[in-house]
Amino acid sequence: MRIEHDFSLLQYNTFGMKAVARHFVEYSSIAELQQFLRSCSPDERVLQIGGGSNLLFTNPVFEGTVLHSAIQGMEVMEEDENTICLKVGAAVVWDDFVAFVVAQGWGGAENLSLIPGEVGASAIQNIGAYGVEAKDLIRNVYTIDRKNYSERVFENRECGYGYRSSIFKNSLKDQYIVTHVSYELKKHPVLNLSYGNISAAFEPGKEITLQKVRDHIIDIRQQKLPDPKVLGNAGSYFMNPVVSVALFEALKHDYPDIPSYPAGDGMKIPAAWLIQQTGWKGKSLGHAAVYEKQPLVLVNTGDAEAMDIIRLADAVICAVEEKFAIRLKPEVIYV
Ligand SMILES: Cc1cc2nc3c(=O)[nH]c(=O)nc-3n(C[C@H](O)[C@H](O)[C@H](O)COP(=O)(O)OP(=O)(O)OC[C@H]3O[C@@H](n4cnc5c(N)ncnc54)[C@H](O)[C@@H]3O)c2cc1C
Repeated sequence: MRIEHDFSLLQYNTFGMKAVARHFVEYSSIAELQQFLRSCSPDERVLQIGGGSNLLFTNPVFEGTVLHSAIQGMEVMEEDENTICLKVGAAVVWDDFVAFVVAQGWGGAENLSLIPGEVGASAIQNIGAYGVEAKDLIRNVYTIDRKNYSERVFENRECGYGYRSSIFKNSLKDQYIVTHVSYELKKHPVLNLSYGNISAAFEPGKEITLQKVRDHIIDIRQQKLPDPKVLGNAGSYFMNPVVSVALFEALKHDYPDIPSYPAGDGMKIPAAWLIQQTGWKGKSLGHAAVYEKQPLVLVNTGDAEAMDIIRLADAVICAVEEKFAIRLKPEVIYV
């Protein structure tokens, strides 16, 4: 077990906040995690993180213990003619897992290429992109209960998955630590190219491989999204709001071009479009800016403090609410 004190979290948050953890503990096995939890005082504030790619540290010092998994490894749990089920350690970098399965010719994860972060968080966040979500692949989530240190394995259907959401972000928030996730992949993949214009990138009649899909998605993402190593950010800052059909109809009357997708009983509107209409795209406030190529992303233009990001987010939220009567909610988690 690695234990550090007054530990810089700069490498553990993609926004590039200069936060420090009073204590930092990295465990390499379930036994080490259980040992840490047993030794922990009930009043101790403990935050489990992955790669910190969806977090905003709002204080310069986290007064507690930041926990990080170093549980690596992939093992085959089950395999038949059509599918293979892999159990993967929470600390495996998500995109390393995607690269590996694509190289094996196992389908299902390719549309989720290049999403930052680790395997553990994929099951908490239900990461998604290009018409696919982690929930489409997850079979089981292996956890440790923070209260009694026992192991519990969740079936996919028990995880309450929804848009960027799961039971672990709602009724079971902060109660379980993910140690492994198992994913089911297809040996005879059916490609999902229906989202946006992915299919337009491929010549009709030519074979489309998993690797080609992955390469194309990496290409689009690199063009559209800022690299956190260059411009600190946490991906989409806001969720896409779902509004009632009545509100949507009223908006459509005033804005005939408003994009939308049916979502349950309501309509989902791309937050990026709403922000663009307010004129905030590309604008900055203090050391934070609305990314010029994708207004859903807020960036640290250099030396930003959390307040710079929060002030800008609030300004965007107010502008959207004033214009459309829709209140955007942050997807980024404030710590
Ligand atoms: C440039 C960029 C692009 C992005 N694009 C996308 C995208 O296309 N789609 C998408 O869905 N997301 C996207 N994101 C957001 C981010 O990649 C995901 O939310 C990712 O799952 C976060 O993983 P992480 O390991 O960094 O988790 P962290 O940010 O460290 O943590 C996220 C949450 O998970 C919890 N957590 C982490 N690990 C564990 C564990 N082992 N056990 C229990 N709880 C845990 C944390 O407590 C926290 O609540 C993007 C981010 C960036 C910076």
